[in-house]
Amino acid sequence: MSSDALSRDARHLALAQVGPAGQQSIADGAALLIGVGGIGCAAATYLASSGVGHILICDFDTVDATNLGRQVLYRPADIGALKAEIAVARLSELNPDIRVTAMTERLSDDALSEVVAQVDVVLDGCDNFATRFQVNDACVAARRYLISGAAIRLEGQLAVFGPDYDTSPCYRCLYAEADESLENCAGNGVLAPVPGVIGTMMAVEALKYLANNTAGDARLQLYDAAAMEFRSLKIKKRTNCPSCASSSEK
Ligand SMILES: [Zn+2]
Repeated sequence: MSSDALSRDARHLALAQVGPAGQQSIADGAALLIGVGGIGCAAATYLASSGVGHILICDFDTVDATNLGRQVLYRPADIGALKAEIAVARLSELNPDIRVTAMTERLSDDALSEVVAQVDVVLDGCDNFATRFQVNDACVAARRYLISGAAIRLEGQLAVFGPDYDTSPCYRCLYAEADESLENCAGNGVLAPVPGVIGTMMAVEALKYLANNTAGDARLQLYDAAAMEFRSLKIKKRTNCPSCASSSEK
């Protein structure tokens, strides 16, 4: 670890919940980020600044002018460029001691499973249910900790799943079918920092897990920004879940 890295990590090293061993685990850790939009930009920034050793970013979208209000890694000059590639450049600048990799192709189930198996934790901040279900199934199969976030209007949500899916519910236990109301920000609007709050909380959960290898109880946090309120709900495992019900037998 370079002396710059030691200085960067000083406040983590002083922290009982991280300390030198925890920071080393963070430096040895790998995180996969699905989507580098409003949520992903915030999560990625803190994962990188905190020294997560390898950050893989999966996003095939390009920067659009309507993204700039909340997707804070991008500048007007980036319009038209691939988000994942710009994010890699910005994050590498933010912390030259880590490795950041862009994946700009839509991944098949097999390709995604292969990538998920290589990382310690998956952060899903994507904008569609098809991908969320695909990511969930790969995390259940590979027994990886899944941190899932979404934001729309003045509402955000955050949930953690796994990595022991014999006992933990999965994303499909929470959402049996696509809930179109959560689908995207385009038609509904979103207050710019709300995805930033959710992405930042996802980074907190990822760092706690990487530092201590201890997963939180599967639960859903609902953020009502209009009322400045959080609600926490326990997520129940569905007995007939198509993804995790028989994960112990797979
Ligand atoms: Zn399930």
